[in-house]
Amino acid sequence: MNYNQIFEKIDDALKPFVSDGKISASIPELAMVDPTKFGIHLLDNRGNDYAFGNSDEKFSIQSISKVFSLSLAFQFMGEQIWQRVGVEPSGNPFNSLVQLEYEKGKPRNPFINAGAMVIADILISNLENPKEDFLNFVRKLAHTENIHYNESVALSEKKVGFRNAALANFLKSFGSIYNEVDIVLDFYFHQCSLEMTCKELAHSFYYFANEGFTKERIKILTQSQTKRLNALMQTCGFYDESGEFAYKVGLPGKSGIGGGIIAIHPKNYSVATWGPKLNEKGNSVLGMKALEFLTTETQMSIF
Ligand code: GLN
Repeated sequence: MNYNQIFEKIDDALKPFVSDGKISASIPELAMVDPTKFGIHLLDNRGNDYAFGNSDEKFSIQSISKVFSLSLAFQFMGEQIWQRVGVEPSGNPFNSLVQLEYEKGKPRNPFINAGAMVIADILISNLENPKEDFLNFVRKLAHTENIHYNESVALSEKKVGFRNAALANFLKSFGSIYNEVDIVLDFYFHQCSLEMTCKELAHSFYYFANEGFTKERIKILTQSQTKRLNALMQTCGFYDESGEFAYKVGLPGKSGIGGGIIAIHPKNYSVATWGPKLNEKGNSVLGMKALEFLTTETQMSIF
């Protein structure tokens, strides 16, 4: 498949949408990003790289990090993990509090913020140096040491993270997290502040396209675990827009409010896009459109 040609077509097709959407205002540091950026990187099952636009620029991966933390926690706990967090789409915004109250503190899934905090709590309990060990895990996936937390973004989020602090305290009141609230939040804000390029993301997520093995043949998850996390990305990866993403794109994936999206075509490719302007659900406008064009143009989706 000549993805380079397809990327040229996608670039044309995106033109009518370049002024749509808004940069996330929820984290002050993120609002400083150039809104006109756009990049895409695809890694296929033969190890070929296809890149377009600003695909080699670092950006804040935010909620995309929730898939890395879940993968590592899944390694530790296996299926027992689902006693602490569910696997159902929430149908609510990523930072919603309402569902937690009537579901007695068990988050619907690991990709809403409450769920990701429970996963962070599991990692803190299982890792010797949680932030350092988690960073090393992501570096192993990406096959590069050049991946870092952005301390200013983590701090910026901490300063305005009243809703996340509310969620973490709420979870603690139900006994859903075992470690100190401040420690869980600090880990969570750091994981969200990780900066990566589209290329690094496409490479790091390759194990989801490759039955649990990285490009360098390191086993991260079993085949069955890989299938299950792909299913979760499909049903919960875009919050209350997961149905729309499945309908229009037809791939498992995960978004972040830094404007990144990762999507997987199991056994075929992993692809990352970056466009900082978001729609009202917090998903990248250009990224969603680009992936819709990609699966339409290639006539390849999982369905
Ligand atoms: N750090 C962000 C938050 O907790 C992540 C949200 C996202 O990317 N959807 O609000």
